[in-house]
Amino acid sequence: MSALRIAFNSLNQHKLRKLCLMTQSTAYKLIRKRKMETKKYRELLNRKATKRNMVLAQNAVADPSDELPSEGKIWKATKHKDVSRSIHFFLWMMVHDSYKIGRYCDKISGSEQQGVCEKCGVTESMDHIMTKCTEPGQEQVWGLASDLWKLKTGAELPKPTTAQIMACAAIKRRDAGTTRLFRILVSESAFLVWRLRNERVINKENPTSARAIHNRWLKLINNRLGLDRAMTNEHKYGKRAVKKTLVLKTWCKVLKNEDDLPKDWTRETEVLVGIG
Ligand SMILES: [Zn+2]
Repeated sequence: MSALRIAFNSLNQHKLRKLCLMTQSTAYKLIRKRKMETKKYRELLNRKATKRNMVLAQNAVADPSDELPSEGKIWKATKHKDVSRSIHFFLWMMVHDSYKIGRYCDKISGSEQQGVCEKCGVTESMDHIMTKCTEPGQEQVWGLASDLWKLKTGAELPKPTTAQIMACAAIKRRDAGTTRLFRILVSESAFLVWRLRNERVINKENPTSARAIHNRWLKLINNRLGLDRAMTNEHKYGKRAVKKTLVLKTWCKVLKNEDDLPKDWTRETEVLVGIG
């Protein structure tokens, strides 16, 4: 039995319904506060679904000829410093298969509708939300990520699998710069897809327009670029600072009017990615 079901079972039916109606983030904050720090909770999470996702994530990292990375490496990757702090918990929950989507909500009275994707008519799963749903969101977001990746590498970015999303911070690309950009692009894009789904399904908002999705994705990536520029300041951030050479390697080839920028553009104020 999942840890969340156990957590839910400790509440009465009235509270269960209330939980399914409140926003996903509020619900999880509540459950996290109540249960996450107990030993029992941690033991309960060590279950079949987690093991299955862990094996998928391990295989997403390794080449067929390589040895699988350790479980510890995958857990560490979910809270990698190149991944935004707000996304750490999302990746951790993904590996644990602990978001109450699809089959979870089917079993809670009054929330059956949340188990099925209204547009596609199939039971929701993280795989459906992240890579298959025809509601505005995933297709466009991964297309934008691929456009930027093409500027960087000359090749399109194949849509990541849920296993690759879970393990994105442990996956190596050809060099340090592309590896880091991959982590940023995949984690930020996946989390945007998740939020777009929650706004529609949980908060009952209208589907987001293509223009708004485009602008939100661009703003997220430009914010990460801006944060990177700021974090090169060793005087201000000390040990937490990011090496300037790594920041330059991460974003080279994907900047707007890059030829007009100085070699070290980290002190420039107007630096944006080259997708309008
Ligand atoms: Zn769908």
